[in-house]
Amino acid sequence: MRAVFLGPPGAGKGTQAKFLEERYKACQVSTGEILRKAVREQTPLGRKAAKHIDKGKLVPDDLMVKLVAERLREEDCKKGFVLDGFPRTKAQADGLEAILRDVGSRLDCVFSIQVPRGIIIQRLAGRRTCKRCGTLYHVLFNPSKREGVCDRCGGELYQRDDDREETITARLDVYETQTAPLTDYYRKQGLLREIDGVGSVEEIRGRLFQALREIEA
Ligand code: ADP
Ligand code: ADP
Ligand code: ZN
Repeated sequence: MRAVFLGPPGAGKGTQAKFLEERYKACQVSTGEILRKAVREQTPLGRKAAKHIDKGKLVPDDLMVKLVAERLREEDCKKGFVLDGFPRTKAQADGLEAILRDVGSRLDCVFSIQVPRGIIIQRLAGRRTCKRCGTLYHVLFNPSKREGVCDRCGGELYQRDDDREETITARLDVYETQTAPLTDYYRKQGLLREIDGVGSVEEIRGRLFQALREIEA
């Protein structure tokens, strides 16, 4: 499985990408997670990325394409991958096409998860992420069994700095202007599957797996 998840921040891309990862033994490539790790470790990439992330802006395309090109060439991505949060611009989509052409492969599917603005704000405001394994929680909709502790690995849960209201608004604007046009780009290639993202995590998973059955039929 070689799939991409598109959708505004908080749509549930990371949550649903995890289900595909488990089902297909594909590797989940979350560019946001990779960047946040680089920021924590203060690598050269992390230092360059931090100022963009803090403002809710996109990290420059050339850095992102290079990062994903390196990641997709690693052994664990050979069986398949689920990209969550990349591409986010037309230049990144072109970059991805070139990367895949290079290794003689192509995308199977692009899922676009759609959620109205009001729901996005609720989801982002309560989002918690495991520092160690990246598992996603929500204080109301998907709480961990013990507050602040990951069910899967016991790691510490934290709230992302960019899930503050001012930054959320900037990120939503960036999504509308730079990322949303990619749905047309992939629709024209016949790869787009639109998924209604309103409902419980399990309901959305049901829709995702239904779409997969249709693709595989
Ligand atoms: P969300 O899950 O809320 O959609 P991500 O974790 O994917 O957010 O991304 C968080 C931030 O990391 C973005 O606001 C942006 O600054 C940066 N980022 C992640 N992926 C990309 C990308 N493909 N291109 C540019 N910037 C990115
Ligand atoms: P994205 O990767 O698109 O930014 P996430 O998968 O991180 O989105 O989800 C954002 C937040 O909303 C997380 O706290 C997650 O637990 C929660 N969430 C995801 N899907 C749903 C859903 N269908 N209903 C309620 N909350 C959800
Ligand atoms: Zn964990």
